[in-house]
Amino acid sequence: MASLELRGLTKVYATGERAVDGVDLTVPDGALAVVVGPSGCGKSTLLRLIAGLEQPTAGDVLVDGVSMHDVDTRDRDLAMVFQTYALYPHLTVEQNLAFPLTVTGCPRRSITERVLEVAEALQLADLLDRKPSKLSGGQRQRVAMGRAIIRRPRLFLLDEPLSNLDTKLRVEMRAAIMRLQRRLGVTTVFVTHDQVEALAMADELAVMRSGRVVQYGPPLDVYDEPDDVFVGTFLGGPPMGVVQAIAVPAGEGHPEGLRIGPCFVAWPGLTVRGVVLVGIRPEALRLDPDGPLLGSAVGIDDLGHERVVRIAVPDASGDQPIVHLIVGPIGRFGGWEPIRLAVDVERVRLFDPVGGRRLTGPGAATGVAAGVMHH
Ligand code: ADP
Repeated sequence: MASLELRGLTKVYATGERAVDGVDLTVPDGALAVVVGPSGCGKSTLLRLIAGLEQPTAGDVLVDGVSMHDVDTRDRDLAMVFQTYALYPHLTVEQNLAFPLTVTGCPRRSITERVLEVAEALQLADLLDRKPSKLSGGQRQRVAMGRAIIRRPRLFLLDEPLSNLDTKLRVEMRAAIMRLQRRLGVTTVFVTHDQVEALAMADELAVMRSGRVVQYGPPLDVYDEPDDVFVGTFLGGPPMGVVQAIAVPAGEGHPEGLRIGPCFVAWPGLTVRGVVLVGIRPEALRLDPDGPLLGSAVGIDDLGHERVVRIAVPDASGDQPIVHLIVGPIGRFGGWEPIRLAVDVERVRLFDPVGGRRLTGPGAATGVAAGVMHH
């Protein structure tokens, strides 16, 4: 087991591409850290730097406080799993799992114990005698996962290992990886572009954009308190809607609040003033015939267990950005009529229209920033 620390880690490829740009990150011993971000943001490069498959242009990777600068990949004591994997076709599941231990001359008794432990965590215990050709795709991948981690490396690195699986299998594999990782306690870095997967799996979540880690922390903290609009809109599905508003002080007959187009959403105690971006997640909205926010439904996705209604809200910019409302399968939503919504301002986040930094809630540096005018 080991802690992992990245210090100012930077990779500039020969093409001039700054794939990883000054990343500082600490993964505590035994934690499962997930790195998520859009395609091309530098996730794979980051993982390859940790593995030693790429040399950093600047910065360092430390394992248990020791620099890996001059340590070869094979001496870093890590296991890696990618999308593609191969099992030994002539060996059974048990022999495949045991292989990395057998070649290091581990005692027979402890091999058996560890194979059982891993097989149980991966729900392969009933399949130990089977050959890979008699396994489903998901079972095969679980064997590959188990074989990679069974010798308890100091670090377990996974690069989009689930992206070629179907949805049901992905959900199963997610659970299997989490069980295995908890059981063995191996410090893990898991890379994915899938924000649902990232939120579901992470102990610690790093959101990357253009080579930088833009936010790092427990996943629900990052979800609830995104540092900027990018993080807020990247995480969560249906996504956070972003509408422009003017935050105004209390006036005759109304408390502080937000002017959103023709509507006024009261927000008693709001200290921010001026033009703001309002991040509205579905859970902040509810159908309410007396609600202050007026929009018009422009689409509906019926998902069976719930329906997602896309609602255009005329805002201060003159645009009609989309917010999403979730209603139950037999909710009151009936058609394409204008809709009134109640807004739970506790769940709304405000951002600076210039630069997109968050202005409200715990951890927001200040209620005032570049784009905000004062009254
Ligand atoms: P991700 O895994 O998030 O999709 P990558 O780390 O693969 O991102 O790539 C980050 C950026 O670096 C991309 O713009 C990609 O085109 C570029 N890149 C990746 N590998 C190389 C390489 N070997 N040479 C030059 N550019 C590269």
